Amino acid sequence: MTRIAFPRSLASAAKAAEMIVNVAPKALVASGWLGLTSPPELVAELEPAAKRCAARVDAETVATLVGGKTIHAVVLPELVSRHNAPARAEAMAAALGKLGLGGKKSVVVVGLADDAHLLPCANAIARCLPLFTRKGGKKQTEGQASILFLRADGTPVEVTREVKETVAAARWAACAVDTHPAEMTTAIFAREVKKLVRGLKHLHTTEITGAKLLEQKLGGIHAVGRCAVVPPRLLVLDYRPPKARRCFGLVGKGVIYDTGGLSLKAGANMGTMKSDMGGAAAVAGAFRALAACAFEHRVICALPMAENAIGPDAFRNDDILTMHSGKTVEINNTDAEGRLLLADGLSYVCRKYRPEAVIDAATLTGAQLVATGHRHAAVISNREGFECLAVDVGLASGDLCHPLPFAPEFYQAEFKSNVADMRNSVADRSNAQTSCAAQFVWAHIEDLDPAWLHVDLAGPAFRDGRGTGYGVALISEILRSFD
Ligand SMILES: [Zn+2]
Repeated sequence: MTRIAFPRSLASAAKAAEMIVNVAPKALVASGWLGLTSPPELVAELEPAAKRCAARVDAETVATLVGGKTIHAVVLPELVSRHNAPARAEAMAAALGKLGLGGKKSVVVVGLADDAHLLPCANAIARCLPLFTRKGGKKQTEGQASILFLRADGTPVEVTREVKETVAAARWAACAVDTHPAEMTTAIFAREVKKLVRGLKHLHTTEITGAKLLEQKLGGIHAVGRCAVVPPRLLVLDYRPPKARRCFGLVGKGVIYDTGGLSLKAGANMGTMKSDMGGAAAVAGAFRALAACAFEHRVICALPMAENAIGPDAFRNDDILTMHSGKTVEINNTDAEGRLLLADGLSYVCRKYRPEAVIDAATLTGAQLVATGHRHAAVISNREGFECLAVDVGLASGDLCHPLPFAPEFYQAEFKSNVADMRNSVADRSNAQTSCAAQFVWAHIEDLDPAWLHVDLAGPAFRDGRGTGYGVALISEILRSFD
């Protein structure tokens, strides 16, 4: 486990460090920025090589060894297309990920072209320092990464409480995703979330478990999780500061493991399904980051949790469920279970608390990866302004996202059932599947018409075999941008 610290000055941290990493955009390096962070003899050694770096698309690294310490200069690329974050957070994470910061005493000095790049850069470094491992039994190396941000003129940039909380919550979310399902049952996940928010002010927590879900008409959550050894549940966190004028809702899909249910996933597709609670981890992390920084508005965070398992009482294809919205759903694919959790969670939050805006996050469709890839989540919204806000916040926070169509009238027919209000899976899998899944969820709150943003983060929440904490920064920063 490696701790992250944000010291105000370098001197003491650098003395104890085994590794020092200087990282800055190419233009800053070219203007002599390394001279502000390093002694002249080191600059003489590193700067010519750093200036020669092509660093057009990917970051490049040069290194030297001084007094037993490895000193790196990472040159961030010039190219930033309009759908990439100006902070170059992706390039930074890719380059730093190769340096092996974990388990060491290291110092990372980041040159910022703009103070606003602080959050995405801090998150990018944190992503290189995952918390979860079961390597080596109990003998894990403790490390510390001290991170300092400097402007082009060498003056330090203060790391705000918001950034520290967001980075910590994103690391927590990544760790929750990385933890394997034997150690992350629905009961353990609920306990970990409650630990995460322990001590926060103005907080009220409710947990509805097992058969009690049916008393609350949460037939979707109950059906998906009812046959697992550890029962399904809905955990609701209600942060209500006394002067709150507005109310926002967050809902995250928390499938702690997805076998596909009776529509069993083929072996090769089942691995990595521990990541199917990435949406719940993201909204819980965002909730923590907001409430810990005295966010001024009320936030309701609902986390439907279930294990999509197989057993004598498993829900079946052909079963008809009555959902919280009152609509009936004929199951035609038990592997399209996440939308049942989201639909119930959203309907519960929107009917009980009437938030003016609600965001749901889920590892919902493999089609999201086809449409927007590993780095951009897909966002779908019934309000143009909400969609634009999400894209802008994505570029600013480094949690990138890109819009897909919202046109329920085009997609409803995909879910047509002869015996219920709808089916849960589409007829034609090549017809805008990610938008269709969103439309299914929307159908359970459309009568209330809240401003709604759906974030399908199947790709960016889990990359290269690791949870990323994607979504914590995006979602908390979206809510912070409402005044
Ligand atoms: Zn599934």
